[in-house]
Amino acid sequence: MASESPPVTHHRPQTRCSAPSPHLRALSGIQPTAGSFHLGNYLGAVRQYVALQDTHDAFYMVVDLHAITVPQDPAELRANTRLAAAQLLAAGLDPRRCTLFIQSHVPEHAQLAWVMNCITGFGEASRMTQFKDKSAKQGADRATVGLFTYPILQVADILLYQADAVPVGEDQRQHVELTRDLAERFNARFGPTFTVPAPYIVKEVAKIYDLQDPAIKMSKSASTPKGLVNLLDEPKTTAKKIKSAVTDTGTEIRFDTEAKPGVSNLLTIYSTLTDTSVAELEEKYAGKGYGALKTDLADVMVDFVTPFRTRTQEYLDDPETLDSILAEGAEKARAVAAETLAQAYDRVGFLPAKH
Ligand code: ATP
Ligand code: MG
Repeated sequence: MASESPPVTHHRPQTRCSAPSPHLRALSGIQPTAGSFHLGNYLGAVRQYVALQDTHDAFYMVVDLHAITVPQDPAELRANTRLAAAQLLAAGLDPRRCTLFIQSHVPEHAQLAWVMNCITGFGEASRMTQFKDKSAKQGADRATVGLFTYPILQVADILLYQADAVPVGEDQRQHVELTRDLAERFNARFGPTFTVPAPYIVKEVAKIYDLQDPAIKMSKSASTPKGLVNLLDEPKTTAKKIKSAVTDTGTEIRFDTEAKPGVSNLLTIYSTLTDTSVAELEEKYAGKGYGALKTDLADVMVDFVTPFRTRTQEYLDDPETLDSILAEGAEKARAVAAETLAQAYDRVGFLPAKH
C-alpha cells in the first residue's frame, strides 16, 4: 500500500548538536492560502503527517508566514489559519502525539531565516522552480521578494527543529534539497549545528493531478475549479467533480501514467483511500467502463469527506479548545526552536545580550 511504501529518499549521516530525542524528528507545514485543504494536500502530505506521529517526534505547523508571499486579505488569513489547524486535527493529528502550532507564534522562524538568507547564493535561490512557476502566474513584476526568499524561510522552518524527515509532496523536494545544502554549508563553515534532513516522499501519492488537467498538479492556487477536489466542499459537489473527471478516449481501466494520466490519477486516489492495491482495482474493473469506476470512487470520496467535514466543524465550534491546543503547541515548539536559534546565533558570532 502507498502509505506503507518506503520513502523514496533515505537518511544520510547526520550531525546533531543537542541530545538526541528518543525518536527521529519529523517536521512539516501547510499553508493557509485557501479555506479548504484539497485531495493532493491530504494524500501527498497530511496523511503522512498522521502516520509519522507513531514513529517520530513530530512537529506540524500552519505556515502563515508563507501565506503572505502572495496577496492576502487579513481577515481571511486569520480565519483560514484556524481552519487549517482544525482540518489537521480532523485529519488525525493528535496533540498528545505531535506538536501542532502556528508558524507566526514562534518568532524564531523569521530570525533564523535571516541568517540562512545570508548564506544562500542569489543564483542558487533563483533556481527554485516553485518561485519561477508562482511568479510567472502572478506576472513577474508583481512577485515579491518574500516569494523569492520563501524557500529559505522553509529552510529555517526545518532546521530549527533538527528535523530528520520532512513529509511533503514531490513539488517540495527541491526545497528540502536546498535545506540539506544549506545545513551542510552552515555546519562546515561554523561547526556542527543542524541535523541534515531528508525528504519523506511517498512515491505513489507524491503528485496528485488536477481532475480536469491531469498534466498539472492539483493546487490550492493554480487548479481549475472543477479539477480541484476540496475536502470541505459539499459532498455532492465532490461527487460531481469525480464523475466529470477528464479521462481519455479509450475504455480500458489500466494504470498507465503516460497513456492514461486521468484514469491513473483516479486509480491512485481510489487505491490510497481504500487501502486497495492498484492491481486489485484493475482486476475489479476489468471489462467495466470509466463510468463504473467514477461512480464508485465518488462514493468512496463522499464517505471520506463527510466525517472529515463534521470533525473540522466540531473543532471550529470549540475555539477555546483549538486555541489551547495551539498555545500549548507553540510553547513546545518554541522551547526547541529557541535552543537551536541560540546555538546558530552563537556560531555566526553574534554577541550575546546580557540580561
Ligand atoms: P499553493 O498552490 O498555495 O502552493 P498547495 O496546494 O501547493 O498550495 P501547500 O500548502 O503549498 O499547498 O502544500 C502543502 C503540502 O501539500 C506540501 O507538502 C505539498 O508538497 C503537498 N501537495 C500540494 N499539492 C499536492 C499534490 N497535488 N499532490 C501531492 N502533494 C501535494
Ligand atoms: Mg504549494
